[in-house]
Amino acid sequence: MTMPILPKHHPSDERLLDYATGAAAEPMALVIATHLALCARCRHEMHHLDQLGGVLLDDAPQETMSAGCLDRLFARIELPHPPIEIEEPAPMPAINRDIPQPLRHYLDRPLSDMPWRKRGAISELELLPEVSNHATRLLWIRSGAAAPRHTHEGSELTLVLKGSFWDGHGHYGCGDIAEADSDVDHRPIAGDDEDCLCLTVTDAPLKLTSPIGRLINPFLKI
Ligand SMILES: [Zn+2]
Repeated sequence: MTMPILPKHHPSDERLLDYATGAAAEPMALVIATHLALCARCRHEMHHLDQLGGVLLDDAPQETMSAGCLDRLFARIELPHPPIEIEEPAPMPAINRDIPQPLRHYLDRPLSDMPWRKRGAISELELLPEVSNHATRLLWIRSGAAAPRHTHEGSELTLVLKGSFWDGHGHYGCGDIAEADSDVDHRPIAGDDEDCLCLTVTDAPLKLTSPIGRLINPFLKI
């Protein structure tokens, strides 16, 4: 019997609302949708957002959203979480069967056959190259290895698909989402017990913040 995945770190309410309304760019939507496939709690939140959206549209189509409206909206849907039910997993084809949909939909070959770019202990696989202003990558980080210390000029969403990482701010396991922005300076380190596979999206370049990293920032294309 496989253990259920119970994520501890979830997308912010704003991220879920962007996803629910279709305002999220495709790369960000891909991260949220893949998290939803792993997280019964957020599926429950989305269900209420959908219900509430329908009620708002029915009740007051002429109203615009005023300041504070979003807070009141979320206050209304702060419902106690029901017991988390894990659905019986659907039979998966052999190809990438450990990768949840909808991410699997973006992979046309087994992960091992994809064109990974190796950088030391970290391998990168670019996804959605046609979407400008976003970098969408799968990262495979060898157990115990560290990514370069960096901060962000925009937003970064990272979803753990396998293994775990620690970045000095939190410990993220399978299904967890880490959100970071220009206030966060971190150095993700994969757990010692197994390699870490994660999906990460940024909407602006990263800035390396170690002494050596600052020297090579001008030459980076990330
Ligand atoms: Zn969640």
